[in-house]
Amino acid sequence: KASSKKEDLGKPVTIEGVRVSSPRRQLWPEAKFTKTDLVDYYRKVWDRMRPFIENRPLTLVRTPDGVGGSQRFFQQHAWKGMPAAISTMRDPADDAELLFIQNFSGLVALAQFGITEIHVWGAKANSLTQPDQVTFDLDPDPGIDLDALRRAAHDLRAHLEESGLVPFVKTSGGKGYHITAPLEPGANWKAVEHFASALAHRMAREEPDRFTAASSKDERKGRIYLDYLRNNPNATTVVPWSPRARNSGAVSVPITWKELDDVASDEFRLGSKALSGALRRKNPWADFFGSAKPLPRGS
Ligand code: ATP
Ligand code: MN
Ligand code: MN
Repeated sequence: KASSKKEDLGKPVTIEGVRVSSPRRQLWPEAKFTKTDLVDYYRKVWDRMRPFIENRPLTLVRTPDGVGGSQRFFQQHAWKGMPAAISTMRDPADDAELLFIQNFSGLVALAQFGITEIHVWGAKANSLTQPDQVTFDLDPDPGIDLDALRRAAHDLRAHLEESGLVPFVKTSGGKGYHITAPLEPGANWKAVEHFASALAHRMAREEPDRFTAASSKDERKGRIYLDYLRNNPNATTVVPWSPRARNSGAVSVPITWKELDDVASDEFRLGSKALSGALRRKNPWADFFGSAKPLPRGS
């Protein structure tokens, strides 16, 4: 009798060589979005997501009972029963174990284990000491309206372009936007962080009413925190096209600078028309790595 009430989780299936158990488990119960729905979604975005996830160290958010459930783990290391489709390596800098995937099967394996949010380093596994991008994470104080946040994004874009870089923007799937410019690998983390820090502090100094470069929530009151601290080994940013482990099922989606003025930071949600619409449009980040420039000198 009890079992008739139990959710039907489905029989195990094999997808891309990965055994997927409980394929009908709802990882986003409010959106009724299942594990196989997630794999089908990944199939659609893989071409666009691949350059940003493949062979990069990962931090994973694992919610085996779904995003509203009681279990939530940050996973940076191998776990018992981890499938072969997920790879590990040692960070030569500190001997820490790092996780990464090398193909679509790896992504299926992440879905299988109830990973509902994927974060990546800004460097590749074969070049861990040389980031290939510089990232700014715009974190608005709750009082900040969307127009002010968008203006901040456009201003940051202008500053980066003045430096000779080619910035791209995506929704975070949360409260803010992420702005990232591709770099020709060469400079080390320290130099990249120094560049990002100098720009964030300059903007905060010139317009202290709008911006802060300090992470404390007190400092943020009525302002936008220009979080430049993503530019560190071990620091991560949610990968383009990753869903968020939140009830909304919002996704971090690459957009054009023009679109920025029309879409909210949590506009795109799993299973939504907005998200399928984004996938029908031209990939706004298609030329990301083709636009790489060396880290600007001085600042
Ligand atoms: P929002 O738009 O709501 O700020 P966000 O993804 O930018 O969403 P932040 O809290 O600003 O969230 O964090 C920026 C990035 O830093 C995250 O995407 C994540 O990769 C990383 N991060 C932040 N906090 C942690 C944490 N406790 N553990 C691991 N990574 C974290
Ligand atoms: Mn943020
Ligand atoms: Mn942040």
